Order: sequence, then structure tokens, then C-alpha cells
Amino acid sequence: MSLIEITEVRKSFGANEVLKGINIDVDPGEVIAIIGKSGSGKSTLLRCINGLELIDNGSISVAGAGLLPDELHLKALRLKVGMIFQQFNLFPHLTAGGNVVLSQMVVRKTPKAEAEAMARKMLERVGLGHKYDAFPDELSGGQQQRVAIARALAMQPIALLCDEITSALDPELVAEVLGVVRELASEGMTLLMVTHEMKFARDVCSRVVFMHQGRVHEIGKPEEVFADPKTPELKQFLGMH
Ligand code: ADP
Ligand code: MG
Repeated sequence: MSLIEITEVRKSFGANEVLKGINIDVDPGEVIAIIGKSGSGKSTLLRCINGLELIDNGSISVAGAGLLPDELHLKALRLKVGMIFQQFNLFPHLTAGGNVVLSQMVVRKTPKAEAEAMARKMLERVGLGHKYDAFPDELSGGQQQRVAIARALAMQPIALLCDEITSALDPELVAEVLGVVRELASEGMTLLMVTHEMKFARDVCSRVVFMHQGRVHEIGKPEEVFADPKTPELKQFLGMH
């Protein structure tokens, strides 16, 4: 059974239809790269999957639970699906550990001691066990993004959505963040990631989705999509990368 089922999803902002009937089924443990030009609807799709945006039509189900457009369901969905953004959005006045603790206490109502233990475990998992007491401005961009990953993992999501999580980083910091993602993938985490890192997509992802003007224009295994693009739009896109 699919872990995430996206069926005929449509989403408009005013008169602008941004998602025009998206269908993607994601199996447990799959790592899916979402590629496409700016404005093609990639971020909107991820935001719909974790309930940050309401969909107008179609359905999204995660682990068998349908997404209904009411607040209760959206909240339940956000608990199940983690999301990491280009900007790390850490609280500057809290330490790395404090950032990972706070979200668990606020969102999951986890008791403090338990949240702290989980924070230590997750910071260790992203290679930052020694930075528990460091403030964000004492960390590199790559380290801050790894804290953001630890924060998402501490919520024990069944899937992680990553929206261009290395795009704001200096080039020399990209590898450490992708390394963490690669490790999560090898441990079986289900990942949907919008990325410009084509080499990473080729090496790590089970499938690649090429979005164009609000539609899944091509979808397939990396070796098919990259080596044998079917449409002129994908050929052009790959030519630019
Ligand atoms: P991508 O991530 O592929 O660059 P987006 O999903 O961010 O694309 O945007 C797709 C389209 O939706 C763009 O035309 C963008 O201007 C529009 N859009 C995205 N979010 C909003 C919003 N909150 N309100 C109005 N328009 C939006
Ligand atoms: Mg985007």
C-alpha cells in the first residue's frame, strides 16, 4: 500500500490554478525528487501535503488517513508529516537543543525531560550531539539546517518533506546537509524533496517528478528521467542544470 496517495489534486490562488490535477503515489521508504522551473508548483504541492495549504479538489491521504479540509485533520496531518524549508527558521534566543525541545513540547505536548532526551538523540543523529547548548548564531548555515532536520525528526514523522533545503547554503556546506538526508534515506525514511541537486537526485532518489506548469509532466526512475527525457520541456530544463 502507498504511504502517501495524491489523487487529482487541484489548487488555485484566485484565478491562478497552480496545481492542475496532480497524481503521485509514494511507497514507504521511497525518496522522491521533485524538480522543475520556478513557479511550476513544487512548493505549493509540498505545502498541500502537510496541510499548510488547503486543496480545492482531489484528495491526499497519508498512511491511510484522508485529508479533509478542516483544521482538525490538517493538524493531525502536520503531526505525521515533517517539513524542512530553505530558511532554517530556528528561534535565535534558544539553543540548538532548546529549539528541538520547544516544538515537541508545544505541538506534541511532550513532557520536558522526554523532549530533552529526544533532542539529544536527534542532534546526535545529525552529527550535532556536541552542539546541544550552542545558539544558532554560533552555528554555520549547514549546522543550523541540520538542527532544523533534528527538530523535524524529533516529531517522529512518518515522512519528511524538504523544500530546497540546501539552496540558502554556501556551496561548501551543501554536502553535510545532503549527507544527513542520504543517511535518513538509507535508514528507510520516506522523503519528498524539491531540489536542484541533480547529482543527489540521480544517486539517492528512487523516482524523479518533473513538474511543469502545475502538472506532473514526467515521472520515473532517475536513470529514465535524466538519461532519456521524453518531453522538450524536460530536455530544456535538464540542459540548464
Ligand atoms: P515553485 O515552488 O515551483 O517555484 P510555487 O508553488 O511556489 O512554485 O508557486 C507556484 C505558483 O503559485 C506561482 O505562480 C506563485 O506565484 C503562486 N503562489 C504560491 N503561493 C501563493 C500564495 N500564497 N498566494 C498566491 N499565489 C501563490
Ligand atoms: Mg518553491
